[in-house]
Amino acid sequence: MFDRASVVTPGGVNSPVRAFQAVGGTPRFMVSGAGPYLTDADGREYVDLVCSWGPMILGHSHPEVIAAVHEAVSRGTSFGTPGEGEVALAEEIVARIDPVEQVRLVSSGTEATMSAIRLARGFTGRAKVVKFAGCYHGHVDALLAAAGSGVATFGLPDTPGVTGATAGDTVVLPYNDLDAVRAAFAAHPGEIACVITEASPGNMGVVPPADGFNAGLKELCAANGALYISDEVMTGFRTSKAGWYGVDGVRPDLMTFGKVMGGGFPAAAFGGRGDVMAHLAPAGPVYQAGTLSGNPVATAAGLAQLRLLDDAAYAKIDAVSAELRSLVGDALIKEGVAHTVSAASNMFSVFFTDEPVRDYDDAKKQDVFRFTAFFHSMLEQGVYLPPSAFESWFVSTAHDERAVERIAAALPAAARAAAEATA
Ligand code: PLP
Repeated sequence: MFDRASVVTPGGVNSPVRAFQAVGGTPRFMVSGAGPYLTDADGREYVDLVCSWGPMILGHSHPEVIAAVHEAVSRGTSFGTPGEGEVALAEEIVARIDPVEQVRLVSSGTEATMSAIRLARGFTGRAKVVKFAGCYHGHVDALLAAAGSGVATFGLPDTPGVTGATAGDTVVLPYNDLDAVRAAFAAHPGEIACVITEASPGNMGVVPPADGFNAGLKELCAANGALYISDEVMTGFRTSKAGWYGVDGVRPDLMTFGKVMGGGFPAAAFGGRGDVMAHLAPAGPVYQAGTLSGNPVATAAGLAQLRLLDDAAYAKIDAVSAELRSLVGDALIKEGVAHTVSAASNMFSVFFTDEPVRDYDDAKKQDVFRFTAFFHSMLEQGVYLPPSAFESWFVSTAHDERAVERIAAALPAAARAAAEATA
């Protein structure tokens, strides 16, 4: 299948990290998912610790989500008009997340961050955007800029196709460094439209914000007339009922969502302060649109999933995550492998270093070759981890005792493989 895919699709995949290039080997083609398990085209079953990169927080094929999808599909798949489902989903988001007074639905996290930035620029009349190295906000041109070390550096394009002009309005700073943010505001007075940050980063591995970091960002933005945008595409409706906002309580001006809120379908959103959202077309002058935005099937799936995510569901996910973190840590300790299990609520990842990881530069210092050995051993034993050392692991309410036992049984050999790996 991969050979077939590689003929008609660049690299054989429709999103690069699926290709296993970071770990080597051939990606598994999955044909079905049920609860915590995925089954590949060769009939092999895996305990899934990727959960479609976050969305499948109730596990695969949850009967109530599937029933909601069937019901919605039976009434038609897209109308290109307003519909009740999108209103209900917006109401659910507004009810859960206090800083969100109004929300606009889109189809991907990328669209959400792209639109939030356009709105911030339109609202403030300023051009520059501050982002942090190691934070991923989708493949928005202006946000694909990274920089070497250094403070208040102008962004350099990270990929061909992004022009210097686009990236030049992006200021890339080291994560967890408020002094760098202060310096950027001082260097660009009246020019910075917004600071965008992952609410708690999961795209350089899990690197939670240091105490007071998000609050400090909010304060600096407010003092300098810039908007504070919290990207909750990954953390939203996962790290608590109200996402990371429910954990740290720092009120963003704008927020972005995706993944969990779509129930496995393409649905995402951005929202926040009413006076800012009022600048969006057709209420205001900042243009934003989408043929399939608020799609009735996607909104039905998302709403069904969110309605099942009550306190008991989060307690269950948190408990499974804690149990897995301790099992992984114990197995690596037993084999003497230097590591740090890093967690933000129920999101977690393992860095193969015992040095503290506070930013992207720290994360890159880990022994990636040990992760590669660990990953392949787990895969061979039927546990599907993210195929990169720089991604969060995800669990769901469906990860029951049997699934955890299968992971526990695979860990000793994987830890040994990590210990024996050479660079
Ligand atoms: N923002 C964050 C924090 C993400 O993790 C992602 C995707 O992983 C995105 C934005 C982009 O979302 P999408 O892949 O739906 O475009």
